[in-house]
Amino acid sequence: MRISFDLDDTLIAKKRFPLEKESFVAKLLGAERLRLGTITLFKALRSKGHQIGVYTTSYRSKTKIKRMFWAYGLSVDYVVNQQLHERTLGKRSKSISKYPPAFEIDLHIDDSLGVEREGELYGFNTVIVAMDDLQWIDKILERVER
Ligand SMILES: [Mg+2]
Repeated sequence: MRISFDLDDTLIAKKRFPLEKESFVAKLLGAERLRLGTITLFKALRSKGHQIGVYTTSYRSKTKIKRMFWAYGLSVDYVVNQQLHERTLGKRSKSISKYPPAFEIDLHIDDSLGVEREGELYGFNTVIVAMDDLQWIDKILERVER
């Protein structure tokens, strides 16, 4: 399965949820801190053969995003940032914040209820995880298993 993750308030937040311990390399690169559990989750998904990527409405560059994960020993297979979203969807990018099917994504993970609503409206699969959800990994893995 091809799975994508939102960044802000899903995998990255400033002191809003417990964070992964900052690696030496991450500190060196000034990489953003990842949500606690991200490493375990990515490894579990990888071991099951899933493809992992990022779908964000931010303008962070693809290189910066890839490097941030790399700093924690993780890799992402693809990055959809706001630039690519706009380039791919054209005019439609204004009326829909995310459209995973355009990038052959099977399941998108996000914190936004707006994205959940778009999924219902436009027919794509989402898992919405709240920032205070400490069982967020289990919620995602359970859904992926189904
Ligand atoms: Mg978000």
